[in-house]
Amino acid sequence: MSTYVVTGAASGMGRAVAEKLAAAGHSVIDVDIVDATVMADLSTPAGRRRAATEVLERCDGRLDGAVMAAGLGPASGRTRLIAEVNFFGVTELLDAWRPALAAAGNAKAVVFSSNSSTTVPMVPGRAVRGFLAGDVDKAVGTLRIFGKQAPTFAYAASKIAISRWVRRTAVLPEWAGAGIRLNAIAPGAVLTPLLEKQLATPAEAKQIKRFPVPIGGFGDPSHLADWVVFMLSESADFLCGSVVFVDGGSDAWFRADDWPRGVPARRLRGYLRRMREFRH
Ligand code: NAD
Repeated sequence: MSTYVVTGAASGMGRAVAEKLAAAGHSVIDVDIVDATVMADLSTPAGRRRAATEVLERCDGRLDGAVMAAGLGPASGRTRLIAEVNFFGVTELLDAWRPALAAAGNAKAVVFSSNSSTTVPMVPGRAVRGFLAGDVDKAVGTLRIFGKQAPTFAYAASKIAISRWVRRTAVLPEWAGAGIRLNAIAPGAVLTPLLEKQLATPAEAKQIKRFPVPIGGFGDPSHLADWVVFMLSESADFLCGSVVFVDGGSDAWFRADDWPRGVPARRLRGYLRRMREFRH
């Protein structure tokens, strides 16, 4: 039996993951702002600290896996809250839990990103850099120019930033070198309470329904949870720093030729520097 922590376990995909892990006989520490063993508001530094500490007490210093599903969608309309929960509610907790994950020897962490990270146009790079620098004021301040649309951009920027954080962090000696596999999943529109809230607003519903999804329809939370459970399994031992898109084809529709992409000549110097920096 393994011990997993799941944030956002009270609803949607986090809940589906927690239920599948518990049904397989694992011990699950569920974290959420409502209906959870560890109740904490991940939009505040104090709430994040409390969640981090309580989980460490409950897991006895050893975690086999962490699933970071707590998140707010653009429909919440609150730019700063989206930024705090979707980015810092992941990075600060995973940083705090890293020693417990390392103690397990072969732990896995799965972070919920989104295909908004590649399909929302014109997300300011300055906002993404703000997140990655740990500067929420800069990240949120940059988005004020978008007025009522700011939450949409906060959402996309938080998901771009968290995907980059996952890729940068996963390969570090303290993570990959400590046996921890850190990856992200990037769902498209999945029929959870988060999406239902967006669909309840006529203007948003219209936008969502006209968004290109090559296979049509919405994703099933239980299917997405199966992907996460797989990413927590031994079969995912060789998966590191990946962002797995499960989105009905929208990312491929918009960005088919953008990635993967070879290293262009102007980036060769940086590539060679990374080659030299690597320690076996
Ligand atoms: P959901 O709304 O069903 O569940 C999210 C959970 O996060 C809820 O239980 C909620 O209480 C919790 N949460 C929100 N704010 C919190 C806070 N301040 N402190 C603690 N917990 C908080 O959403 P979902 O659709 O299952 O989304 C899960 C993740 O997947 C999110 O990160 C979301 O951004 C991402 N995602 C969802 C979709 C989608 O279409 N549903 C698409 C792409 C990405």
